[in-house]
Amino acid sequence: MKGDFFRIKKHLEIFFARCVKGRHLSCELDYKNRMERVIGMSIRKRRVEMGQVLIFSLILLGVLSTYGGAFAADVGRERAVDEALEKAIIQAQKTMREDLGGPFGAAIIDVDGTVLCVASNTVLGDHDPTAHAEINAIRLAAEIKGTHDLSGMVIYATGYPCPMCLAAIIWANITEAVYGCRPEDAEEIGFRDDFIYRFIESGRSDSLILSIEEYGRDRCLELFDEYAELNKIIY
Ligand SMILES: [Zn+2]
Repeated sequence: MKGDFFRIKKHLEIFFARCVKGRHLSCELDYKNRMERVIGMSIRKRRVEMGQVLIFSLILLGVLSTYGGAFAADVGRERAVDEALEKAIIQAQKTMREDLGGPFGAAIIDVDGTVLCVASNTVLGDHDPTAHAEINAIRLAAEIKGTHDLSGMVIYATGYPCPMCLAAIIWANITEAVYGCRPEDAEEIGFRDDFIYRFIESGRSDSLILSIEEYGRDRCLELFDEYAELNKIIY
């Protein structure tokens, strides 16, 4: 009887020992699986976070390069316009004090943002009614560059360009003009800028200011046709 008791006890001990060991093993496996899951999740989460950081950085870089570049360009342009303004005023003061022309100066800013040239009104000195500051500046810039095409350049004028200069600016392919005084400011001191603008705006119908008539069209068309047939440069 006593022998049976010890045998049963022994079996029970072995049985419980196996159970504990099994549980321990299953716990270890469970722990390992869970750890792997946690590590896997952590790695995936880290990857997602790093991806988000990378995307955010790229967006930030894009925004900074776009607005930063635009800001730098704006600052550079403002500086160039300031320099053009100062130089145009100094040049205008010089020629007007020498009685060569009116108080008008102009400067042309090159495509690289530097002031290419400066000129002023020399109508009186040159006995040339077209020698306005803008015209003189355009002629100077074209001579320096060796081309009639001033695309990409900016013109600064101390006064709003008169119709002649406005057209000359467009002919030169300059698409940006900055001015100081307004046409009415020029009229205030006796110049006719505003007067010419009103004439154009009214349809050029006032023959007392200017009479315009057509004559000899057929003869002149022959000239035009000859140019077209020669395939010459159109500007
Ligand atoms: Zn003008």
